[in-house]
Amino acid sequence: MSKIRAEYGLPMIVTSGFRSEADEARIDPAHPNSLHTRAAACDIYDPDPEKRLWNWCINKMDFLVEVGVWLEDRLYSPAHVHFQIYPPASGKRIFTP
Ligand SMILES: [Zn+2]
Repeated sequence: MSKIRAEYGLPMIVTSGFRSEADEARIDPAHPNSLHTRAAACDIYDPDPEKRLWNWCINKMDFLVEVGVWLEDRLYSPAHVHFQIYPPASGKRIFTP
């Protein structure tokens, strides 16, 4: 994430990082094995309607591919950008959770 923050050049507020099993059960019970439980995902605050970070990511996709992160589709995380360092089962760079 430090490479992304340096390139983004603005403060990035983590709204969710590592989650214990209990955290995950409370926050996202539909995905008990999310990469948050393996310290391989983090959520960065990015509220609608501005979506400043999300729009930056869309414009910097080549950079994000080089860094090696995948993003959850914005439709499923309207107040933050979910980054993860392992590909989802679909392999898609922007994926449906
Ligand atoms: Zn997340």
